[in-house]
Amino acid sequence: MRDQPTQILHVVLIKATRYDDDGYPMRHWWGVLPSNTLACLVGLTDAVQRDHTLGDGVEIRRYMYDEAVQKVPIRKLARLHRPPYERVIVGLVGVQSNQFPRACDIAHAFQREGVHDILIGGFHVSGSIALAEPGTIPSEIQQIMDEGITVVKGEVEGHWGDILKDIVEDRRKRLYDFGEPKPDMSYQPLPVVDKQYLKHFMQANFATLDLSRGCIWDCEFCCIINVHGKTMRHRDAEHIAATIRRNYALGVNFYFFTDDNLARAKNWEAFFDMLIRLREEEGIAIEFMIQADVPSYRMKNFILKAKQAGCTKVFLGVESLDTETLQAAGKRQNVAASARDCVAAYEAAGIGTHAGYIIGFPTDTYESVMRSIDRLIDEVKPSTASFFMLTPLPGSMDHVKLRQRGEWMAEDFNLYDSFHETTRHPHMQDGQWTKAYQDAWAKFYSYDNIKAILLRTKTESAYWNTFKNLIWYKSSIFVYREHPMISGFIRFKGRKARRPGLPIEPVWVYWPKRIAELGGEYYRWWLLFKECKSLWLETRKESLLERYAVEKLSRLRDEVASRLPQLGSINESVADPHFATRLSQTAQEWGQFVADLERSWRSLRHIEGLKVLPRLHGVWHSLSQAATQVEGRAGQVSQQLWQDVRAETGRALQRTVEECEAVRDMLQSLRQRSLLREARRVMQFVRCLARKDWSLEAIPLPTEQISQ
Ligand code: SF4
Repeated sequence: MRDQPTQILHVVLIKATRYDDDGYPMRHWWGVLPSNTLACLVGLTDAVQRDHTLGDGVEIRRYMYDEAVQKVPIRKLARLHRPPYERVIVGLVGVQSNQFPRACDIAHAFQREGVHDILIGGFHVSGSIALAEPGTIPSEIQQIMDEGITVVKGEVEGHWGDILKDIVEDRRKRLYDFGEPKPDMSYQPLPVVDKQYLKHFMQANFATLDLSRGCIWDCEFCCIINVHGKTMRHRDAEHIAATIRRNYALGVNFYFFTDDNLARAKNWEAFFDMLIRLREEEGIAIEFMIQADVPSYRMKNFILKAKQAGCTKVFLGVESLDTETLQAAGKRQNVAASARDCVAAYEAAGIGTHAGYIIGFPTDTYESVMRSIDRLIDEVKPSTASFFMLTPLPGSMDHVKLRQRGEWMAEDFNLYDSFHETTRHPHMQDGQWTKAYQDAWAKFYSYDNIKAILLRTKTESAYWNTFKNLIWYKSSIFVYREHPMISGFIRFKGRKARRPGLPIEPVWVYWPKRIAELGGEYYRWWLLFKECKSLWLETRKESLLERYAVEKLSRLRDEVASRLPQLGSINESVADPHFATRLSQTAQEWGQFVADLERSWRSLRHIEGLKVLPRLHGVWHSLSQAATQVEGRAGQVSQQLWQDVRAETGRALQRTVEECEAVRDMLQSLRQRSLLREARRVMQFVRCLARKDWSLEAIPLPTEQISQ
């Protein structure tokens, strides 16, 4: 049995959010993208505990909070701090520039509660220090260091245990610089999936992982190369396989591989081969999204293997369609490659494409941006797109150049989210830049373009994946007026949780405003919902069951119609019993077909299918009646009786033909009557959204029925 620990270390890992324009932290009921940095730090902390890096006497209890979807109970956590036996360590991880003010405010709140072992790491501090004037520390970072907060530059793989040890031994430094050399990632602890955490996201089966870090290109607006470096480093593919297996058992089968450019990971092929093997040999069929550069479509086997491995979506850094702009931005790799060919190649392989597009390069004007968006829609044709305003991110060469030229840059880092103007544009002033950005979103996500995108999808699953993404994007922009990458569903806004320096509004000011805001949001949701429903009615793929029923009805109609002349020629001297047998066989087969169809439609709760069922039974009834009549009269020899048979059976068969035509028309016209039965259609739409699959493969008919 393990001895009682002499010290308990409460390691609180927090991914800070940013403030909205009114100064309220952005938090949603459901988020869309789990944080990979948080998962990485959880993995590293668990490894420190597992390996007893801090010695047997120290027990680690770790807590993780993603402020985008969770409230951080600062006071409650601070109460755990009872030194020297119990200590709380706060790690503000993966802090980007736009989250830096919020992260600092959280750190200050912990300090006020008596917790002082606080660390801040991530892109802002790492990138800013990396590109600061030699020997200097940017002022906002120096300030938090002076306040007693520890700054961690670079990646902590291979160092996390040492940092925690320093804290335990009261040797915590103000700055840990792990910029160079960068850690070998091959066998570093992997990001850990926490099922409780994933429940805060729209898809609880969705997690993140990174295979590699770094990028080989030189884009001047990018800070990734100055934090993760230009030499690609990667994890061992088999090392990742073990985690994917473990996560699969927990129900995780969909990933976002967060590598900034997975196409340049040196072991991408071994990685895809491993995923293909898992799929084929162990039945672990995961699906995933990746980020890749535009020239990746020319890499031998890259798209092919990505598809075989389960890739459903690729995020492409298109950034601009203007050659001169791309040259000036250092994105020369896109000059030689064609965004249109790239998108076409991925889409042809069945991988949905997402184009990242930047607005506000120095050569852009409002008119040129609008022309480019038209080209993006008409020529490049990605399934989805995101727009960003060019931002001189600390840690990018753009930031260095503006600083050296002494140009104005916004002082509030909260604005450095790529959706605000943070510097002056040479051609777009007085709000024109923001207007170009907003109009780009509106143009791309217009009804007509969404309809065209949905009609381009080739399979049922591609259709629903695209639909789901379009709802995510459109709701973020249209309902919440936020960028999809930081948005979510159902916004929380605590009255008192306002940015320090801004007044806390009294209840009678805050609530009327908030209620009006919520009313506006729900109204816009309703409008969006109606738009989606109408789009769905215009674009949805005909279900296989419907198509199958229509085909079968056509065949039966032709078959029965061809027997009507035969009926006229039969008499007691020819092979009447054969005619009777054939007719009753057809009736039996049709009865079986209707029963199978009924079972499938009922199990799928397919409203249109259920509605036409009585008519299909009517067809069967007429057919059976005709067969029974012929059978019953077959043994009789009276000429008069045969005349009766011909007349009665003829009428029954004629009815069958008419019923077939009526049901077929009904099935087809039901698809277009969008104004009728609004409420039921809404329910049907909601159910389809939830189910996403109407295919025969889901609930198959007997194979002999399908092959007929
Ligand atoms: S290709 Fe992407 S990740 Fe690489 S430098 Fe350019 S923007 Fe950064």
